[in-house]
Amino acid sequence: MTGGAGYIGAHACKALAASGYLPVAYDNLVHGQEAAVRWGPLERGDIADRGRLDAVIATHQPIAVMHFAAFAYVGESVSDPGKYYRNNVCGTLSLVEAMLGHGIDRLVFSSTCATYGVPAKVPITEDQPQQPINPYGKSKLMVEQMLADFAGAHGLKSTMLRYFNAAGASRDGAIGECHDPETHLIPLALDAASGRGAPLTVFGDDYPTPDGTCVRDYIHVEDLAAAHVRALERLGNHGAMRAYNLGTGSGVSVRDILAAVERTTGRSVPHDIGPRRPGDPAILVSDVARARAELDWVADRSDVDSIVATAWAWQQVRANG
Ligand code: UDP
Repeated sequence: MTGGAGYIGAHACKALAASGYLPVAYDNLVHGQEAAVRWGPLERGDIADRGRLDAVIATHQPIAVMHFAAFAYVGESVSDPGKYYRNNVCGTLSLVEAMLGHGIDRLVFSSTCATYGVPAKVPITEDQPQQPINPYGKSKLMVEQMLADFAGAHGLKSTMLRYFNAAGASRDGAIGECHDPETHLIPLALDAASGRGAPLTVFGDDYPTPDGTCVRDYIHVEDLAAAHVRALERLGNHGAMRAYNLGTGSGVSVRDILAAVERTTGRSVPHDIGPRRPGDPAILVSDVARARAELDWVADRSDVDSIVATAWAWQQVRANG
């Protein structure tokens, strides 16, 4: 598993181990945390390092690859697109070639709802046009297209999981989100409420949404992790290439999140209203029908209060630990 020391990758390792697999985390630890690798070995390496990939694959002989390793800051992708194309696209090419060189033909790929850009309609189905509006989303779409070509030429079977807004932490407090810098709404709102961070800036309250703030589909990271196990077990059942949106199907506004943070923490969230953040569509909500039908999966621990409560518990662990 590439990116196994990252936020979503570590949760996937945990879920795989609970289902009887031995996840080998391959991670360069640029953003990943060594302490998050607890359910299998850590192999330090970069996906662009073909020699290291070959050696690790030869040692562990995986049955399949889950590919989480990527840079994922939208703003940074705009200011430094080369970093995103080099790592996310060229790095994935190196990985796929290494896999095929060792006869591994099954891949679960971390894609994103950012590949849709500003959606033509919501909820978003998998066959809607993909017109990403930033280099991060474009880099992920390029990989999807590359995987399609490798399916045709080399029989690679891949499942593309297009995440909506991953959030929350494991319910046992073992692992959670540790981005540096942190840019995501829920950890920043919790930091503002606890006084550990600055007041939150709400990026725009003049959107055409019920309360004027952006609406997103927040999915608990444990639900996401569970979907990966399902995807692995069903890989290839619906063609060599299949994409699934992973969300809840429910839209939650920035103000809804602030209200949930206030319920959970018992504290108000100091905040002000700022301008819109460039590149933010007003509403992103997943259509969940395909994942439900074909992966036999639904997000069942992603109600906003569970997400915020687990994220809050994790922040307490980190603050005290
Ligand atoms: N957001 C905000 N203030 C912040 C961070 C995020 O208002 O300091 C909003 C952002 O505009 C978006 C939502 O919160 O509508 C979720 O943003 P986040 O960065 O968590 O995830 P993204 O949607 O970019 O994947």
